[in-house]
Amino acid sequence: MRYSVAPRGLNLILKQIKEKCICFGVQIYFFYLYRQSSLYKNMIQLEDFIRDIPDFPKPGVTFKDITPLLADVEASRTCFEQLLQLTEMQQVDKVVAIESRGFFFGMLLAQHLNAGFVPVRKPGKLPYSTLKQPYALEYGMDTLEIHEDAIQKGDRVLLHDDVLATGGTAQAACRLIEQLGGEIVQCNFMIELTFLNGARKLGDNEVRSVLSY
Ligand code: AMP
Repeated sequence: MRYSVAPRGLNLILKQIKEKCICFGVQIYFFYLYRQSSLYKNMIQLEDFIRDIPDFPKPGVTFKDITPLLADVEASRTCFEQLLQLTEMQQVDKVVAIESRGFFFGMLLAQHLNAGFVPVRKPGKLPYSTLKQPYALEYGMDTLEIHEDAIQKGDRVLLHDDVLATGGTAQAACRLIEQLGGEIVQCNFMIELTFLNGARKLGDNEVRSVLSY
């Protein structure tokens, strides 16, 4: 007579393997829950990933280098999640981001807000007809440009950049958005250098940032 059942010893081994698999699965599940929890996210101090570079690009300026944050998957994910939280998931039609460091999270924000992405760039970079807005720098002037068809009248717009310092850059971007008939819902930054009072230049627009110095 032939038996298809496994011998008793083998059954015991299979049972032990099954129990170990279940135990491992439970451990992975709890680890996943922990990674998703605020307990884990609160442990990441985003400030630790921002590097101060003294006297860059010129003497007297302390440059906030965000590349360590970008290079760390958990820090950049946490930063993005906090930027998104700032928006309160408001309905927006366009996310306008300023060249170049505004592009990193600007595009991600646009995707998650189900909005179009619009780059605001330095002169001569955009290929189609542009609207131009000069603005004052600490020393001299600069200009920002936007494609003239990038925003439709009445579009709800989120403006995003990495750093709000003196506010001149964001102010110029706001002017471009307004000239095209966009309605600014929020000006959203990774870092605000509050001691430079840049928010003052943005008038009544809502200004929010993940980190303040
Ligand atoms: P501002 O027009 O003075 O507000 O300058 C904002 C723009 O310049 C942003 O696009 C920033 O990328 C850049 N920026 C100004 N100051 C700093 C700084 N201390 N660290 C890093 N980026 C800065």
